[in-house]
Amino acid sequence: MKIQFNSLARQYCKYQNEYEMKALEVLRSGWYILGNEVERFESEFADYVGVGCAVGVDNGLNAIVLALKALDIKTGDEVIVPANTYIATIMAITAVGAKPIFIEPNEYYNIDTNLIERSITDRTRAICVVHLYGQSANMDDILSLCKIHNLYLIEDCAQSHGSTYRNIMTGSFGDIACFSFYPGKNLGCFGDGGGITTDNPELANRIKKLRNYGSVKKYIHEEVGFNSRLDEIQAGLLRVKLSHLNELNNERKKIADKYSSKINNEIIRLPQTAKYCSHVWHQYVVSCDCRDKLADYLKNHGVDTMIHYPIPPHLSQAYAYLGYKNGDFPKTEEYSKTILSLPISIGMTDEEICYVINLINMFR
Ligand SMILES: *Cc1c(COP(=O)(O)O)cnc(C)c1O
Repeated sequence: MKIQFNSLARQYCKYQNEYEMKALEVLRSGWYILGNEVERFESEFADYVGVGCAVGVDNGLNAIVLALKALDIKTGDEVIVPANTYIATIMAITAVGAKPIFIEPNEYYNIDTNLIERSITDRTRAICVVHLYGQSANMDDILSLCKIHNLYLIEDCAQSHGSTYRNIMTGSFGDIACFSFYPGKNLGCFGDGGGITTDNPELANRIKKLRNYGSVKKYIHEEVGFNSRLDEIQAGLLRVKLSHLNELNNERKKIADKYSSKINNEIIRLPQTAKYCSHVWHQYVVSCDCRDKLADYLKNHGVDTMIHYPIPPHLSQAYAYLGYKNGDFPKTEEYSKTILSLPISIGMTDEEICYVINLINMFR
């Protein structure tokens, strides 16, 4: 059997007719940038997350860049961020000239909130929390730290569309929350896309301005901005997928629950869900001391896996200039050597899920 890591073609088939009708509708409308579809998506997405405002942008990286810009975070400022994250979170912080202050993860792979306070200085302006793999971080702790130290809260929700903490949606806690709609994300479009959510209409308007050359009225540029707009066709397709997001997340949960209840190999550690957190299983991440051997074994039996992520940002060549070395964030580094993401793909059949489970249970 051959099992793809994430088959987007199968996911597409599930609502193929709706996507194709919407794409044709937009193509035939003659209006392709910042129009009805973007506006309606913004309003539907804000409702879904439970906030006052949403703004569509061009991708997840730029969503975070624009959020930092809107909060006037700049050179000389420090931003607290998990060491264990996708490098885009860090690249957004350094793109505005700020310094990322890395914090080690807990056993749920998310930022260890007990380690944050000691890293706060008089230059710290914000905490940028990431809800990694689809599971919310500990928001009680983070909200109270932000309050005590007067810090902005930015949420990186690129992996957590629909995930909750105490039944409240991720994306509704931060001053601004940032989403990616990259095709492989839980709410993915058919190209690049991103968005922000906030309850603060002034911040939403600032981001609307920044995404469009610093302009509200055509040819009147109030500040230096970017071109970070979301396309009408992507917004239209996102509206279709958003209407099915809970169903899609439930399907992921069914696969994850099968893995969790049926994988019983004592050398494989299964992912845990923390108190008050729900999980939308953007990734199903196991860990194993002989990870590379496990990955090769699965590959040889036709099962694709991935590593999220093999090189932690602080050891990436791109950040050599920050001067970190091996051993600076041992837990993050250990995860990068032991974690493995199993296939979790919309449209995966029971037979395929069982095939993966049996293979893992036979691994020695
Ligand atoms: C995917 C991702 C991003 C970046 O999103 P793009 O749309 O690819 O720019 C940022 N942060 C995290 C945690 C991500 O997983």
